[in-house]
Amino acid sequence: MHTVILGAGLMGVTTAWELAKDGHQVTVIDRQPLPASETSFANAGLVAPGHALTWASPRAPKILLRSLFKKDQALQLKLRADPRMWSWCIRFLKNCTADRARTNTLRKLKLCVYAQQEFQKLVAETGIEYDGVRKGLLYIYRDEQSLGRGLANMEILRGAGQRMEILDSKGVARVEPALEASRSRAAGGIYCPDDEQGDANKFAVGLVDRLKTKGVAFRFGTTVTGFETEGDRVTAVVTDKGSVSGDQFVLALGSYSPIIGRKLGLALPVYPVKGYSVTLPTEGRNGTPEIGGVDENNLVAWCKMGQRLRLTSTAEFSGYDTSHTPARFAAMLRTARDLFPQGAEYDRPSYWACLRPMTPEGTPIFGRGRHRNLWINTGQGHMGWTMACGSARITADLMAGRDPEIDTAGMIYGKAAAAAAA
Ligand SMILES: Cc1cc2nc3c(=O)[nH]c(=O)nc-3n(C[C@H](O)[C@H](O)[C@H](O)COP(=O)(O)OP(=O)(O)OC[C@H]3O[C@@H](n4cnc5c(N)ncnc54)[C@H](O)[C@@H]3O)c2cc1C
Repeated sequence: MHTVILGAGLMGVTTAWELAKDGHQVTVIDRQPLPASETSFANAGLVAPGHALTWASPRAPKILLRSLFKKDQALQLKLRADPRMWSWCIRFLKNCTADRARTNTLRKLKLCVYAQQEFQKLVAETGIEYDGVRKGLLYIYRDEQSLGRGLANMEILRGAGQRMEILDSKGVARVEPALEASRSRAAGGIYCPDDEQGDANKFAVGLVDRLKTKGVAFRFGTTVTGFETEGDRVTAVVTDKGSVSGDQFVLALGSYSPIIGRKLGLALPVYPVKGYSVTLPTEGRNGTPEIGGVDENNLVAWCKMGQRLRLTSTAEFSGYDTSHTPARFAAMLRTARDLFPQGAEYDRPSYWACLRPMTPEGTPIFGRGRHRNLWINTGQGHMGWTMACGSARITADLMAGRDPEIDTAGMIYGKAAAAAAA
């Protein structure tokens, strides 16, 4: 069985791993010269079931509306004449009821927990080095009011079994000594001891090295433009370097999945949500945070990766534009300097921006459409590093005709759309 995977981001390479294990002959196609060069390149690095809250919540419409008028928000909606953006937003708003937020969050959590277990198995099996740290993650709040709101939000995760420790400002500094000097900035925090962190790009590159030794073929620098089909089957992927035929196909193109999927009549509710990240050297510094976390008031995430500190922020609805200017990073650098004044060489930044493949529900999409041999693994949104290994296993199970090990309600193409429309 020859399976062709479209996309060598986190979803593509982890799916290649699972399928190779299941005995498929695998070819992976990507337009970039190296794996994980787009959204999986420089994300926040947090493997965070403890943060599996869905974005669509009863508070979200107000936050989105405010972003139309205030330019300095971490969340920014830029209205565009783009019907896909409008239909995505309508579906997002339908998911903002308390009931739907609860259902979607619990589904997301289940996938994140499962995916973390699969991730840990894969790391144990391969020994991939990815600057991983397994010491939990810290979510801090600047004032009592937001801490109270954070606790209320996290309660659903805690109720579902996620371990959490509620901290005052002293406790925050105990868990992360790099915050001792700036302890007064935080009213308190939530520590999730089972969360972890690491460099997703380094992991993906390490996995590709191992996949090559297992005979998986990679066609980098190759852009997918369409498909050849016969009846309800795809026979080949059309690329700028010729056609690649196969028995089965996996669509794992992140934010570009709906564009290419449309050529087969798929209507994937995935919209790009731009995020920004900056990476700073930390050699010789002793104020770098050891464990990753999020400043929940400023929506800035931090994560140490070996001798680097990664900061990320912002959710911008601005189509497929991935451009960035230094000014866009000023607020997150200010936040990081405030929390970790000695934490990094702030005057040596590497900037980056990319697109989260978001669904309105916050859960990904699996399964297939009219073409029976093209499988979907996309829409992991802001949590694809956390969800990757579980999503890959689910995809492999579905392709083998096995029931996935967790309930995939709301995540199967077609069925997910019907549930959202209800
Ligand atoms: C700022 C930021 C911070 C984040 N932080 C976290 C975090 O802390 N924790 C977490 O769990 N998740 C995080 N995420 C989310 C996570 O990074 C993504 O969900 C994940 O990387 C998506 O992986 P993917 O494989 O679906 O997409 P991608 O990594 O984008 O892979 C898709 C691949 O398809 C290729 N491609 C696209 N179109 C074509 C074509 N036509 N032909 C050939 N190849 C094509 C691209 O080159 C790319 O390699 C973050 C995302 C961002 C943007």
